[in-house]
Amino acid sequence: MADVLYFNGRFTTTDERVLGVEDRGFQFGDAVYEVFKFLSRRPIFLPEHYRRMERGLREIEIPSPWSETEFAAVTRELLDRSAFADGIVYVQVSRGEAQRLHFYPEGMKPTVVAYSRRFNFPDAAAKERGIAVITTDDLRWKQCHVKSTNLLANALAKKKAQRAGAVEAIFISEGIVREGGSSSFFAVRDGRVITHPLDEHILPGVVRDQVIGLALAAKIRVDERPLREDELFDLDEAFITSTTMGVMPVTEIDGRIIANSRRGEVTTTLQRLLDELESRA
Ligand code: PLP
Repeated sequence: MADVLYFNGRFTTTDERVLGVEDRGFQFGDAVYEVFKFLSRRPIFLPEHYRRMERGLREIEIPSPWSETEFAAVTRELLDRSAFADGIVYVQVSRGEAQRLHFYPEGMKPTVVAYSRRFNFPDAAAKERGIAVITTDDLRWKQCHVKSTNLLANALAKKKAQRAGAVEAIFISEGIVREGGSSSFFAVRDGRVITHPLDEHILPGVVRDQVIGLALAAKIRVDERPLREDELFDLDEAFITSTTMGVMPVTEIDGRIIANSRRGEVTTTLQRLLDELESRA
């Protein structure tokens, strides 16, 4: 079934072919995107997603197509028009359409796309079972804090993970554990949570930020510091976070069992706190 689609100021469905072949999002990955979750037609952490998209647009010099109020109104209407109450919304803003040249013209009009999609969020059993991950070389560009649509390295890494029977690929560069192909990475050691500091090596995950806040409020120590690859051999727990996965235990890294292959205590607590926060959001 077609999904509801917002395209450059009007509503249609994903059955309509709306994009031109010379859209720079298509030809150059010259675009930023967001994915947010909605539950019972309530968007979750919408202002945080909006702010990250605005920062990304500024970084790559694409003019913002909307104010926060306009963005909220468009997403409200999108959710009202959707045939289902729980799912995700994919939003993309590209630099726009122009004759294919690396030098883009000044004053381009951005292309704006947003559509909702049904999504099977992990159920209680999946959240308890956890996932296996692999590690892989980080072959991405050097501005990973921008949520750009240049996802080739991520897609190839995740496909490699899937072929190895895993669910996520964790990027390593300079001997440091960065993040997942589409998630933030956390380790737990001696009751302390460790995750990469915010810089150009990682995306500032919306859920990452919420989970750090929840951990601190629950008096769990959080170290935002680079985790060395060799520290992966000596962890009490590990988990990833993302909009679609929430807090997901990692029970295996490159075939090595973590935490006796069971969801750890800190991970369980943070899962519960995030679920509670989302149900209030
Ligand atoms: N890191 C990368 C590279 C991602 O692509 C994503 C989500 O797609 C995340 C982290 C998690 O971000 P969020 O928590 O905002 O979903």
